[in-house]
Amino acid sequence: TAGLLRGKRGLIFGIANNRSIAWGIARAAHAHGAELGFTYQGDVLKKRVEPLAKELGARLIGHCDVTEPATIDAVFAEAAAVFGSIDFVVHAVAFSDKDQLDGRYVDTTEDNFAKTMLISCYSFTAIAQRAEKLMTNGGSLLTLTYYGAEKWMPHYNVMGVAKAGLEASVRYLAADLGEKNIRVNAVSAGPIKTLAASGIGDFRYILRWNEYNSPLKRTVTIDEVGDTAVYLLSDMARGVTGEIHHVDAGYHVVGMKRPDAPDI
Ligand code: NAD
Repeated sequence: TAGLLRGKRGLIFGIANNRSIAWGIARAAHAHGAELGFTYQGDVLKKRVEPLAKELGARLIGHCDVTEPATIDAVFAEAAAVFGSIDFVVHAVAFSDKDQLDGRYVDTTEDNFAKTMLISCYSFTAIAQRAEKLMTNGGSLLTLTYYGAEKWMPHYNVMGVAKAGLEASVRYLAADLGEKNIRVNAVSAGPIKTLAASGIGDFRYILRWNEYNSPLKRTVTIDEVGDTAVYLLSDMARGVTGEIHHVDAGYHVVGMKRPDAPDI
């Protein structure tokens, strides 16, 4: 491969298993020569993430639960020790109670609203605060969002509201960190069957709908998201910041069901 990330060091938050979008990004970044550090959330996922970290020769692997700020600090302290400075961070973290990713948004509880916002929206800013200090040569921050931030989607509910906040954070962080040559962007990925996605009601229907109605008439893979992420993390995108880049087989340009799409 072209080695677009040769000499660059980055942290990847949000690998749960080999179907995670963050894993697709890690693989692509590794193929382009990046040196990586991984985080996992808790002991259950540690067992899954450790062999993946080994596979890509990750230099650092640490527990991080974004609801516990001390664990975020610990990961960045370790990154400072191992890497000195870093060049990029990938944030692929989101959570909401499964029973609220179904039915009506209006029924969302205050508790779950706050939790969803903290984990799925604020955590990117919390990570940016720490990353800024280690990005002494500039850098690139990347998060993952979904079209449900822009438009109503069935069952996405409070997560859509959190993603709208996340996308606004991309713009505010881009403006704040631009003078340090730290770029901040998001990939808005089309639906992909992952652990997090399995919490969303009728997810198979959403996949099918995208497959029939997107311009490319298919859904996207974690490798396709990974390749676009490499571009945004690399100097190829040195003029790009504050951007929400769709990797969704073009679905976001479609206004209605195609007349030739089968009924599902
Ligand atoms: P995933 O389940 O593989 O990844 C979600 C990750 O979030 C997991 O690694 C999990 O450990 C982590 N996480 C949850 N709560 C956390 C906490 N408190 N502290 C630290 N980490 C925590 O699923 P995924 O689909 O790869 O999700 C990655 C990102 O992509 C998410 O932001 C998701 O919203 C976004 N996204 C997914 C899709 C899709 O269809 N799968 C589409 C667009 C955007």
